[in-house]
Amino acid sequence: MDEQEYIESTPSVDHPKPIISIVGRPNVGKSTLYNRLTRSRDAIVDDRPGVTRDRMVGVGRVGALPYWVVDTGGIESDDEEIHSLMREQVDFALHDSDAVIFIVDGRDGATPVDFDIAKLLRQSPKISVYLAVNKAEGLDRAMIAADFYQLGLDQPTIISGKNGDGVVRLMNRVLEETEARQSAEQSSYVIPEGVAKLAIVGRPNVGKSTLLNTLVGEERVVVYDMPGTTRDSIHVPFKFADKEYVLIDTAGMRKKSRIDDRVERFSVMKTLRAVELAQVVAIVLDARDGIVDQDNRLINLVFTSGRSLMILVNKWDGMSAYERDQVRAQIDRKFGHMGNIPIEFISAKLGKNIDVIMPLIDKLYDSAMTDMSTGQINRILKEAEEKRNPPMVGNYRIKLKFGHQGGMNPPHVIIHGNQLDKLPQTYQRYLSNTFEREFNMVGTKVRLSLKTSD
Ligand code: GDP
Ligand code: GDP
Repeated sequence: MDEQEYIESTPSVDHPKPIISIVGRPNVGKSTLYNRLTRSRDAIVDDRPGVTRDRMVGVGRVGALPYWVVDTGGIESDDEEIHSLMREQVDFALHDSDAVIFIVDGRDGATPVDFDIAKLLRQSPKISVYLAVNKAEGLDRAMIAADFYQLGLDQPTIISGKNGDGVVRLMNRVLEETEARQSAEQSSYVIPEGVAKLAIVGRPNVGKSTLLNTLVGEERVVVYDMPGTTRDSIHVPFKFADKEYVLIDTAGMRKKSRIDDRVERFSVMKTLRAVELAQVVAIVLDARDGIVDQDNRLINLVFTSGRSLMILVNKWDGMSAYERDQVRAQIDRKFGHMGNIPIEFISAKLGKNIDVIMPLIDKLYDSAMTDMSTGQINRILKEAEEKRNPPMVGNYRIKLKFGHQGGMNPPHVIIHGNQLDKLPQTYQRYLSNTFEREFNMVGTKVRLSLKTSD
């Protein structure tokens, strides 16, 4: 996805965008609908090995209502595998989404596989399922609707993913109902201005709950049971050294600290959502595992989201000097180039090096929310340009004219000038780095928008 669009689509939000998954058997039109709903702006591709096509995640908007949409992937294998793969697809959708669009092919009528999928979907009454009958151009609506009523699901919505008929009507219904449900579940807690929102993310068992416990101790329990925060609320206020913070809960964390201790299932989508709602993200890694693929993917995801980021390498206790050196080297190799992203080695369990975290959260919050005056921006631009001239394009030199702040979280600078569409990536990085240094930002990347005005 284009970075610029990502910024515009993720202002500092208090309400999460709903996650809508599309399921259905091969060739019914999932990816066609996905493309229409996102206009192909893809945030992440969750590529998994095997026969499933890549799972695509993107953002879109219908009217005033934004959403995440997931194409759960196509299945391109023989019949034997189709059932277990279907189950996996439906499982993902039910676990990771707020609503599911189940697509069927109006020309084929209800097939046995459609009945199987419908049965799986009916087993989870918590998630709303919307039945969309696709490829309906030129077909008799009443006839096809009658056929698909047999699936025992929602009232079918007749659409054509290809020419767009009925798609807005379908999405309006999905989004309005999902929003109504989400608001009913949300607590009445209003986050005060200036309070940092923190997401602690990472794979299961890396030590997120332990870290939270060590950081805020018993106070947390009190906060959780505070009136006005419902059990499923994702905003969890807490205090540290008399200062207020809000933790964006990623589901598993809090449940575990309660009665049942079952291992949470990792959800990329829910992590993504917590990240979107936060200004500060702490990614926790388990030093004993080194850095695995999923860690890498998470770090890239947070990095592209523009949220301020720190990396906490946990379980540093009890490791030999040799093991520590190895992990350190691996971290350097992978993240060394990220420059101003703080990396701390901690033991959540023993409370080792924990003291650095809260001050770091404050610093990252301030960085995400940096207020850059137009005067300062223009002084920095001028000095940067004098120190290092932008390159020539043909006979003309690219010229930076002036700039101003475009937004916060991530800090965003809009620069006007001549032929900026030809400004090389390396020069753009140089400018971002200069802003970050001049404004003492930590863990934060400055985004640039270039406007050519000649
Ligand atoms: P997926 O495997 O479920 O992702 O299906 P695709 O989106 O790849 O679509 C499969 C085929 O159906 C493609 O040839 C599409 O062009 C076609 N298709 C998708 N939506 C429609 C539609 O609304 N009408 C018609 N006639 N064809 C469609
Ligand atoms: P979460 O799933 O990320 O919330 O992980 P938990 O906080 O539940 O921790 C998973 C396991 O790792 C538990 O058995 C913890 O006791 C253990 N653990 C957490 N932090 C540390 C640490 O710093 N050192 C060691 N040795 N174990 C830890």
